[in-house]
Amino acid sequence: MDVNDSLITTVRLVADYMPENPLSGPFEASWRSLTENYTEYQIATWWSLFYHEVTYFLICLPGFLYQFLPFMQKYKIQQNKPETWEGQLQCFKLLMFSHFFIQMPLICGTYHFTQWFNIPYDYDSIPPWYVLGLQIFGCFVVEDVWHYFLHRVLHHKDYYKYVHKVHHNFQAPFGAVAEYAHPVETVVLGTGFFLGILFFCTHFLQMWVWGLFRLLETIDVHSGYDIPYNPMHLLPCYTGARFHDFHHMNFNGNYAPTFRWWDKLLGTDWQYKEYCSKLAKEGTKKD
Ligand SMILES: [Zn+2]
Ligand SMILES: [Zn+2]
Repeated sequence: MDVNDSLITTVRLVADYMPENPLSGPFEASWRSLTENYTEYQIATWWSLFYHEVTYFLICLPGFLYQFLPFMQKYKIQQNKPETWEGQLQCFKLLMFSHFFIQMPLICGTYHFTQWFNIPYDYDSIPPWYVLGLQIFGCFVVEDVWHYFLHRVLHHKDYYKYVHKVHHNFQAPFGAVAEYAHPVETVVLGTGFFLGILFFCTHFLQMWVWGLFRLLETIDVHSGYDIPYNPMHLLPCYTGARFHDFHHMNFNGNYAPTFRWWDKLLGTDWQYKEYCSKLAKEGTKKD
């Protein structure tokens, strides 16, 4: 029995003593209805497209509303750079282009992936939540490695102006900026998302759950607001909004999307550390 098996057995023993999830019944009914009424092709393409649009804008919604709430302004990271209607509209237009012309073909490819690797869609094959949780954590680790190193390549002075400059159009980001990028970047960095699936996917639902958590993470780090008690910080070594906000403000350093370990290990967070200690001396903000 390897470490993975022991871990899963331990979690299963604990899970047996936990109260039943009240949402499991409605979820089972919905999933069974989805798989009985639609073909695998329709679920993997049209429903995935719909799911991506709904989750993306729903997750962006709270951050979008913060700009109208005076009591949230104390959590805004770059206080001197408020959101503008012009910037948000510009972002929305590029997002629509990217979602329907760049990401849609990639989403369509997931159907062929599931057929090729015999990935099941049925309710009875859905792995338990703790296996799903470990798979999602694994996806985050793999995506983080890919994103960190490719992000550094995109910042190379010879290529930066051709591709990654688009994403850095917003020096003070807001949630929807998460997928505001040049088409080449969408494909290059988006590959990290699919690598996680390649390694860990054992059921179609895992793609949607991984997609949901990846969106929660990337929209949170771009939100421009550092909200207290943010549950995303339960992820060990999580970067968070301040970390990535600094990347947009400074154009350099803090390249990792999810975990701080690569920046720490390779010393690409030194400017951020200096910035934090300067702020701490001034008594403004710590990290
Ligand atoms: Zn960058
Ligand atoms: Zn960014």
